[in-house]
Amino acid sequence: MEKLMMTPGPTEVSDRVRRAMSAPIVNPDLDDQFFLFYKALTEKVQNLLQTKNQVLIINGEGILGLEAACASLIEKGDRVLCLSNGIFGEGFADFVRLYGGEVVIFNEDYKIPFSLDSLRDFLAKDSAFKLATIVHCETPSGLVNPIETLCPVLKEFGIITVVDAVSSIGGYVIKPDEWGIDVLLGGSQKCLSAPPGLSFMSISDQAWRVMESRKQPVVGYYANLTLWKHWFANKYFPYTQPVSDLYGFNAAVDIVLEEGIEQFALRHKAIAEKVRRTLKTAGFEIFPDEKAASNTVTAFVIPDGIDDGQFRKYLWEKCGVMIAGSWGQLAGRVWRIGHMGENCREEKVYRTFVAMDKALREFGYKTHRTLASIYAELG
Ligand SMILES: *Cc1c(COP(=O)(O)O)cnc(C)c1O
Repeated sequence: MEKLMMTPGPTEVSDRVRRAMSAPIVNPDLDDQFFLFYKALTEKVQNLLQTKNQVLIINGEGILGLEAACASLIEKGDRVLCLSNGIFGEGFADFVRLYGGEVVIFNEDYKIPFSLDSLRDFLAKDSAFKLATIVHCETPSGLVNPIETLCPVLKEFGIITVVDAVSSIGGYVIKPDEWGIDVLLGGSQKCLSAPPGLSFMSISDQAWRVMESRKQPVVGYYANLTLWKHWFANKYFPYTQPVSDLYGFNAAVDIVLEEGIEQFALRHKAIAEKVRRTLKTAGFEIFPDEKAASNTVTAFVIPDGIDDGQFRKYLWEKCGVMIAGSWGQLAGRVWRIGHMGENCREEKVYRTFVAMDKALREFGYKTHRTLASIYAELG
């Protein structure tokens, strides 16, 4: 049985990306061609991110980008505003504390996106923050925050904006330069459908100035972004680059750019809407406020009486399809289908629903119509 991994990261990896990873290894520190390849790759990522800001690709899974941004920007005692309405929002605050930042939380319910008005009211009373952290798509709950309106307001108050868009880049066209995003963070294993292992980011001039005018040195080496600032001019990487991962990532970025970033995002939106309509028609409850549901992942409430772990084990082992549960306060409460990147294909979503129909029957859950038939009818 061919297996299908419909999780919100890692996502399915195409043959083209896997083939690219099998190309011969070069010496990344000594081969001029490799520096040129790397430079061209950062330019493609600038294109993907619609930005003139410098792009870095660093060698660790998405979390490294979040941690590196905190390590490089924050000095002991800096006040940081953490917008938190989900598990990654809360986690961001932990990183800020780890690097000596004084955290102020601006929070909202897990189901509700941040509103511009309440952020404005909050900032009118207190805006003395060096930076703010925001999560674009809260992957564990399937919620998207309106960064296109929140970031410009934070910038009005002179606050550096750091946005975790790990699970949304590609599923949305994000415009850091227009929206005032100083540091935009992505990962290889979500919508781009490269294997896990790389973080990428764009960094504004203002954010660079903050990093380069620190009074205290950055704590740590691997997470120190300032080491990367002049890598191309100096033909110097802070450490040996994972050549194969970068070849795979390069092919993954090409795939998105060839389709076109607008078209790629539109396809995500269309499939996301169909997934939610299907689930709702079959009687499932979508978890977040639906106006804020993500183009890339759908979280929906697990029906009463079905054991989360047993159901997903059956679905994977007997039907060959993996969906995700969640964790933290959402553990055992929601299931998630990741319809991003290579997973965002009609036939894969259809196969997921066929498998879920079988598993739901096995677990005694009755829907008046099958998910697969509802999905197929939406055309
Ligand atoms: C996937 C993801 C990350 C990276 O973290 P892992 O859980 O280790 O994969 C960071 N932020 C968000 C919003 C993510 O979805």
